[in-house]
Amino acid sequence: MEIIFHHPTFDTQTWLEGMQQQLPGANVRQWHPGDNQPADYALVWHPPVEMLSGRQTLKGVFALGAGVDSILSKLQAHPDMLPNGVPLFRLEDTGMALQMQEYAVSQVLHWFRRFDDYQALKQQAKWQPLEDYRREDFTIGVLGAGVLGGKVAESLAAWGFPVRCWSRSKKDYPGITSFAGDEQLSDFLSGTRVLINLLPNTPQTVGIINSRLLNQLADEAFVMNLARGVHLVESDLLAALESGKVKGAMLDVFAQEPLPSNSPLWKHPRIAITPHLAAVTRPQEAMEYIAKTIRQIENGENPGGQVSLHHGY
Ligand code: NDP
Repeated sequence: MEIIFHHPTFDTQTWLEGMQQQLPGANVRQWHPGDNQPADYALVWHPPVEMLSGRQTLKGVFALGAGVDSILSKLQAHPDMLPNGVPLFRLEDTGMALQMQEYAVSQVLHWFRRFDDYQALKQQAKWQPLEDYRREDFTIGVLGAGVLGGKVAESLAAWGFPVRCWSRSKKDYPGITSFAGDEQLSDFLSGTRVLINLLPNTPQTVGIINSRLLNQLADEAFVMNLARGVHLVESDLLAALESGKVKGAMLDVFAQEPLPSNSPLWKHPRIAITPHLAAVTRPQEAMEYIAKTIRQIENGENPGGQVSLHHGY
């Protein structure tokens, strides 16, 4: 079995040796321009078109992350990049769900216990106890209830918050109210105090967090964007913060990354920023997952994690 690997920033040696260990019978190699030797599987991130196009022997391509938007947009410009019928897989969880839970829960608790307000009071050397927020006024709404959104919703429900989620198809998660489809988006937003975005980047979800959506949230809402920068209209968020509709935001992803130093988001006192690290690929978990999937394909089984090219995620 021949496996080719390309990632612009990962430590290639770790991956070649690690995959070799996972699949001892395979030959795992780094792909270099001009390498047209046969390959059964490709492990990629931002793959050059020539790495994949025309490879009729491929049985599967693995995206080395959870989001496949960058691969699919390249595929749109170069439809021959993925030979007809070759399945595209992505990483499902592989340690990312726990990271997302840590990120989301810690920030929700930060807002809920008003640590942002106390930080502002501290700047003025003011000793001033504030009224507690009540859980019943702190409904959490998770946009995107898939592998990561579902787990985040679950962990916040375990902390006793009222939690709802929004997805394309209806969910049956214990203790979580499910809303599905465009026709239920307004109901989902109405009364949501903390909005957490974990949608994939597709033509249907670009720009979804805009003024129209923000205005439907509960007053003094909080917004957490953990998915993709293009989901958020940054100027609309700034306007909502200005008007007081939104009280605070935590952003991990941005329309332009790295976020330019002159972006007004950096200086805003009620926006917290992290540099796209809410959940990173954990090599060991990812390699085990990919090897398991390859074994399932080789055994003629139907593995999970296959991307729907039709739905774009
Ligand atoms: P999934 O594919 O498992 O979940 C996507 C969810 O979004 C599903 O519930 C899906 O609905 C829903 N959805 C998709 N399109 C629509 C739509 N048009 N309307 C309503 N709901 C929709 O993805 P993951 O949970 O694994 O990952 C989510 C995203 O998180 C990734 O695409 C990636 O962009 C981002 N991410 C960010 C990271 C970071 O570090 N900041 C790290 C990892 C991922 P349904 O269930 O019905 O299909």
